[in-house]
Amino acid sequence: MNQVDIKPVEFDLPSQASPSTSCKPSQAWARVPQQPGPDERAALKAEIKALLKARDAVLVAHYYVDSELQDLAEETGGCVSDSLEMARFGRESKQQNLVVAGVRFMGETSKILNPEKRVFMPDLDATCSLDLGCPSEEFNAFCDQHPDRTVVVYANTSAAVKARADWMVTSSIALDIVGHLHAQGQKLIWAPDRHLGQYIQKQTGADMLLWQGSCLVHDEFKAEELKMLKAQHPQAMVLVHPESPADVVALADVVGSTTQLIKATQTPGVDTYIVATDNGILHKMRQFAPGKTLIEAPTAGNSATCKSCAHCPWMAMNGLKNLRDVLKTGFDTGLGEVHVDSALGKQAYRCIDRMLDFAKTHGISGPRGQGRLEQAHKGVGPA
Ligand code: SF4
Repeated sequence: MNQVDIKPVEFDLPSQASPSTSCKPSQAWARVPQQPGPDERAALKAEIKALLKARDAVLVAHYYVDSELQDLAEETGGCVSDSLEMARFGRESKQQNLVVAGVRFMGETSKILNPEKRVFMPDLDATCSLDLGCPSEEFNAFCDQHPDRTVVVYANTSAAVKARADWMVTSSIALDIVGHLHAQGQKLIWAPDRHLGQYIQKQTGADMLLWQGSCLVHDEFKAEELKMLKAQHPQAMVLVHPESPADVVALADVVGSTTQLIKATQTPGVDTYIVATDNGILHKMRQFAPGKTLIEAPTAGNSATCKSCAHCPWMAMNGLKNLRDVLKTGFDTGLGEVHVDSALGKQAYRCIDRMLDFAKTHGISGPRGQGRLEQAHKGVGPA
């Protein structure tokens, strides 16, 4: 396996930001909204529901955002899912406007797939360490050095990086596509997540040149502490997202995308699960498999270098207030509106469309199992 030496990304709090509004993870910065009180929350939710109707908008939310936003999306006919299904749902929805509760690349992907619709986000500064760690100029220069390689990028990238790629993949379809390209004898550039790339390389045997990005949430899961936790719960099934380090993945019973991990919580005869992914997913897991015991995988302990709370600080920037504000004023002022240059969007569309076409041709309905998950769990999936 080949690797490239890329300078690590800094996530220091910008000096102009107020420390009181920063997120707790020591290596990340974000403006995490203060949680309103119960009365205000109820009023905000009612206002958001009315505004979604008035604005002909649908709310699509990621599994990692606040549980109240997830519930709101489903109560109003929107959806809660992974990044690709969010975009697909937006494209198929009859509403002319989309509100994406997630991080920036998700809003961009929605806009690329739905250029005729207006796309909004509660906070356009909600980004992703993988996206930040793969600037398009450096990535283009890197690709230029290896013109013989097919470029495969993860969904967690900017529109500009997608515009350079031959294929975009999500974690649920990456193994199929890389396996397919490898069988054709193609050599690959993979970006940006090094752990996911390493996992896929190991599973498929493909020749992959790996960009050295990482997710600041998954990078913090600790293998030594996970071993100790497993010893305390020997009957537990360990569910790990492949953005986690290889020594954590090695301890997994199930390695998979968010949707695949949620589905795993319905494994017959298993009552306890140790979950190594953003803890925002526990809300959907509790709905999908009520009564099961869910334990968060450790991110701290003797081997920890940095204490993380297993929750993405950028996903946490999505709140009821900024969602309401965008719906109330964004349609007139442009607050929270996602723009993608149309020529760049057309270029980026190709690699996404290629993946969608592959999924259709190979009978993979989008992120594998997503449709089945929603159908299987009546009352939680979208209408
Ligand atoms: S959880 Fe990780 S991969 Fe997902 S948006 Fe946050 S930083 Fe990016």
